[in-house]
Amino acid sequence: MDFGHSPRAQDYIARVKAFMREHIIPAESAYHAALTGSSDWRQWRQPALMEELKAKARAAGLWNLFMPDPHLGAGLKVVEYAALAELMGHNTIAAEVFNCNAPDTGNMEVLHMYGSQAQQERWLKPLLAGEIRSAFCMTEPGVASSDATNMQATAVPDGDEIVVNGRKWFSSGIGHPNCRVLIFMGLTYPDADRHQRHSMILVPLDAPGGKIERILPAFVVYDEPFGHGVVVFENSRLPKENVIAGLGRGFEIAQGRLGPGRIHHCMRCIGAAERAMAMMTERGDKRVAFGKPLNQLGGNVDVIANARMAIEQARLLTLKAAWMMDTVGVKAAMSEISQIKVIAPNMAQQVLDAAIQMHGALGVTLDTPLSTLAAYVRTVRLADGPDEVHRRVVARFELARQRAERGEA
Ligand SMILES: Cc1cc2nc3c(=O)[nH]c(=O)nc-3n(C[C@H](O)[C@H](O)[C@H](O)COP(=O)(O)OP(=O)(O)OC[C@H]3O[C@@H](n4cnc5c(N)ncnc54)[C@H](O)[C@@H]3O)c2cc1C
Repeated sequence: MDFGHSPRAQDYIARVKAFMREHIIPAESAYHAALTGSSDWRQWRQPALMEELKAKARAAGLWNLFMPDPHLGAGLKVVEYAALAELMGHNTIAAEVFNCNAPDTGNMEVLHMYGSQAQQERWLKPLLAGEIRSAFCMTEPGVASSDATNMQATAVPDGDEIVVNGRKWFSSGIGHPNCRVLIFMGLTYPDADRHQRHSMILVPLDAPGGKIERILPAFVVYDEPFGHGVVVFENSRLPKENVIAGLGRGFEIAQGRLGPGRIHHCMRCIGAAERAMAMMTERGDKRVAFGKPLNQLGGNVDVIANARMAIEQARLLTLKAAWMMDTVGVKAAMSEISQIKVIAPNMAQQVLDAAIQMHGALGVTLDTPLSTLAAYVRTVRLADGPDEVHRRVVARFELARQRAERGEA
């Protein structure tokens, strides 16, 4: 395994690190202060500060760093992007600054890999420019959405149109003032093989028949200005040209989209844990109780050592999965991607919890990034598939491997 970075990647790492330190970390409080704090997404505005930071990042050439196609973005290997995404995980605003935030990255990759020229022109271009945002509407409140083949909302052809019906939820990013398009997954062929029943359709946010019902809080916060929406579609009619790749290919596209998306979450989780570690150790050095710095009290040295060991383990496994994606492809790396999708957020959850504890009451407020990061990493254990589904994948590969070792079918 080779996790080494090319000189070009090393240069990106140094520049993202400096940009984070000089521009993004100091802007955290002002950014959050510019949000409305309202549960009504119709009042949300994109903070001007975010657009200023985006413009600076773009001017510095730190833009679309996730994009493996060198004509559209940085053209880095997954293992190289890992270090950058980790840095972006130090807070919940950095990824958007570099145009590397979910769910837009996944949607851009779908349009890049499967979109027609017209779809790329209309939607991929402005997404790559950071002018618009997008959402991904797959999961539904009415069915166990861990199983993507369960989706019941429909996308039915009718002449030159596709008619879309159903209720989706946790459509992340749909409340963003700049959100203009969503990717909808609907049932087209109920009697086909379960992996060929669904289709993906591009739906402009203002398409007749579509309506955001409400934004769901995740751990009491609304993730303004992105938001996780409940969206209803009633006989929304779209031109057939809005189908991505072809009817019945929805499951295939969802799987292709989720490989990179999952590992990006893992990289950001490691960054969140590193931020927690930095804050926890600084706090523990400087705050004194019972005559000693907190770091010297009770079992706190063990807490720090255990956190460091857990972060290193998770990072190595993330890099292994990334390296496999680069060398043998997403399909062959499925077990490793699922392994790290379980390991990274669980590890980050523990490290953040330790850092919150070391901060005392301050740790649960919004005056530090810790509580927001803790909520984020906890939700990663559900988003893009819950832990149990990923363990199932790991076990399936392991059982097959062991049977093959024994020479059994
Ligand atoms: C913050 C956040 C953002 C999200 N963003 C998006 C988005 O942008 N677009 C989108 O479409 N969806 C999004 N989701 C939804 C997410 O993908 C689903 O919540 C997830 O796939 C699980 O589906 P479910 O909630 O229906 O849980 P269910 O399928 O009902 O499962 C519930 C629980 O059952 C257990 N379980 C399920 N399968 C197994 C198994 N095989 N073995 C053992 N136990 C099992 C697990 O504990 C699981 O958590 C988001 C979710 C969150 C929390």
